[in-house]
Amino acid sequence: MKSTKLTPTVSNVAVVGTGVIGRSWMYVFARAGCQTRIYDRDPKQLNRALDWLEQDLKLDRKEGFLRAVEASALRARISVHTDISEALRGAGYVQESGPEDVALKQALYSALDGAADPNTILASSTSGLNISEISANLAGAHRCIVAHPVNPPHVIPVVEVLGGSQTDTKVVTRTCAFLSSVGQRPVLMKSYVPGFLLNRMQAALLREAIQLVDRGIADVDAVDTTIREGLGLRWAVMGPFGVAETNADGGVREYYTRYRQSYIEFMNDLAPTPSFDDDTIERLARGVDAMMGRVSRARVRRWRDRMVRRIRAIKHADPRP
Ligand code: NAD
Repeated sequence: MKSTKLTPTVSNVAVVGTGVIGRSWMYVFARAGCQTRIYDRDPKQLNRALDWLEQDLKLDRKEGFLRAVEASALRARISVHTDISEALRGAGYVQESGPEDVALKQALYSALDGAADPNTILASSTSGLNISEISANLAGAHRCIVAHPVNPPHVIPVVEVLGGSQTDTKVVTRTCAFLSSVGQRPVLMKSYVPGFLLNRMQAALLREAIQLVDRGIADVDAVDTTIREGLGLRWAVMGPFGVAETNADGGVREYYTRYRQSYIEFMNDLAPTPSFDDDTIERLARGVDAMMGRVSRARVRRWRDRMVRRIRAIKHADPRP
């Protein structure tokens, strides 16, 4: 897969918090051509993020996702900062990726709002917190926004974007434009719900998957195979509504009309929330162990990300008619 030339709408970016998500954002921005300034409260995390990057770039070159010259240009765009004000100097966009804790994010946002230039966007990777609450008491609440990625964002493009009650609509537009310009796929939400779109849909499916195993209807492997070799194959190219449109010769109207009653019955029969206690987790984990075998987790994760990138490349080369 060859990398496509991107033209970022913001040239200087800061990544605040360089754990699992922040380090991947660093890759996204630097790959797109942004000068990328990274900061973490814990200097060891900065070193870990850079080690991860070196390792990942090496594998990406080996597997043909990047050329050597692109990898070294990407690396050269990253600068490391141990002072937050220094990290934010000249940055037009900040991607906050600190821990998922509302009090911590409130304190961090207060520091970001104090240090950033007046027009700088302060975007949060939060998986489910409300940006209205995080930014409630800030002078710069109008420039605070959620930009929730899917892990890892340098492989998976969707980013859920959601303003808070005080967010300026121009900030929402500029955030979506910037994320598109660095190769991501912003999805705009109109109002806040816990879990946003992706994790709500994931939770709905997970609830049913756990119950199917727990009630002894199928084992872990059967549930995963149904997604992996069934629903998931279509979902890699179309969402649930797009699939419905193509599931009947007469399109979505015919499909929903014909199967309405069955779906109502299935929906009424769906399981309630499971206890998800330690015993349930252990039972599920044993099923996962049996399904995965003894192969190293790091190898499987690398394979997963390689396959996702290849699928994206195929989709790019053969877009939907
Ligand atoms: P993580 O624990 O791996 O990383 C958090 C980093 O923040 C650490 O390096 C930590 O040292 C740093 N940090 C702590 N306090 C800080 C401060 N005051 N200033 C600067 N840095 C600070 O967590 P993560 O998994 O990368 O998650 C980060 C954010 O991304 C969370 O809000 C999380 O909900 C969200 N998110 C996570 C995932 C995921 O799958 N891990 C997916 C999407 C979004």
